[in-house]
Amino acid sequence: MSIDDILFHSGEHRAEYFNAINPPIIQSSNFAFDSIADFKAKVAQEHRNYVYTRGINPTCGIAAQKIAALEHCEAGLLVGSGMAAISIAVLSQLEVGDHVLCVSKPYSWTYKLLTNLLPKYGMSASFFDNNDQYELASVIQDNTKVIYLESPNSWTYDIQDLTFIADVAKKRGIKTIIDNTHCSPIFQNPKVHGIDIVVHSVTKYLAGHSDVMAGVICSDDSIIKQIFDCEYMILGAVTSPHDASLIIRGLRTLPIRMQRSEESCNTVLDYLQTVPHISKIYHPYLGNHKEVVHKQMTGSGGLVTIVLDTEDKAIVEAFFDRLDKFTFAVSWGGYESLKVPILAFFDNPGKTNPPLPYQMIRLYIGLENPSYLIASLQRAFEVFE
Ligand SMILES: *Cc1c(COP(=O)(O)O)cnc(C)c1O
Repeated sequence: MSIDDILFHSGEHRAEYFNAINPPIIQSSNFAFDSIADFKAKVAQEHRNYVYTRGINPTCGIAAQKIAALEHCEAGLLVGSGMAAISIAVLSQLEVGDHVLCVSKPYSWTYKLLTNLLPKYGMSASFFDNNDQYELASVIQDNTKVIYLESPNSWTYDIQDLTFIADVAKKRGIKTIIDNTHCSPIFQNPKVHGIDIVVHSVTKYLAGHSDVMAGVICSDDSIIKQIFDCEYMILGAVTSPHDASLIIRGLRTLPIRMQRSEESCNTVLDYLQTVPHISKIYHPYLGNHKEVVHKQMTGSGGLVTIVLDTEDKAIVEAFFDRLDKFTFAVSWGGYESLKVPILAFFDNPGKTNPPLPYQMIRLYIGLENPSYLIASLQRAFEVFE
């Protein structure tokens, strides 16, 4: 199925709702049955039928089906946030005594799931350095049940070789899970490279307008059914039909938004590479796994991290404050360009300083004209003069 089929037609049964072009928001918590036989048949395959909205709701189902199809997966489950998707996917593959091997520096709350929550239930996690990924087999434990990836990862955009790692895992019966939020399904499809379960923070690119929290879990139908029948229904972290409708609207423009962010980010990247006041730029295209990037990604999107060339925190702060056309906010993937300084996470009472340098600033390039953003960067770099 082509991306256009998926985004504009697939899963939309217009004859069932007055031939409306846009799917209705089915704001109903439950669904009626024709007979006991009808009920029995539907409950037996509840992950595909409408029974109760903590299970599958028609509007949520359309959004989930479209995202799963974009990921070349048989099925998908929409949940209330990216962290719900990650937590449900990870927990679904573990029992007491099991171990997760995770790439170092995953998304911060993923790290907390693995190091704070799992140990409460007798499960453990350890982390492998991205530079050692080809020696992964040597750090797999007898009780390793999940290898968890984030490629590119948060802040520094470390790249993992998906086919290589999927291969190592498959030989040992270990499940692989990847957080594919950075690339979106437009620029990377991990299932094609052998990864078992793909999760996203739909909050970012997929919804794309900074107005929805959601997540998605995509995999084979058998794995999705297993997750649905246990963690998904028990933990109950569902999305509302209203939000699903906003997600469907966001998906219509996903390819053109991704293309715009990618092209603008490349333009900004070209500019940043001419600036003398930067000691390092983190971006997948500038890292040390370029051939792997080429093999598994068709784009990167709008994220780039810079490290300012100064030992003076006041200069970092002044630069940051002058960067007027980038809004200071967490998250990313919406229409608007954003900035986040690592400096803000330093010297906070009761908190340990992050393992990243205070000169580091993450930029997210949204849908503005790149020259508008570059002009703002140029004004901010004047603090060095
Ligand atoms: C934002 C984010 C998450 C968490 O998603 P929420 O929707 O905020 O729960 C997970 N992984 C990555 C890479 C993210 O950027």
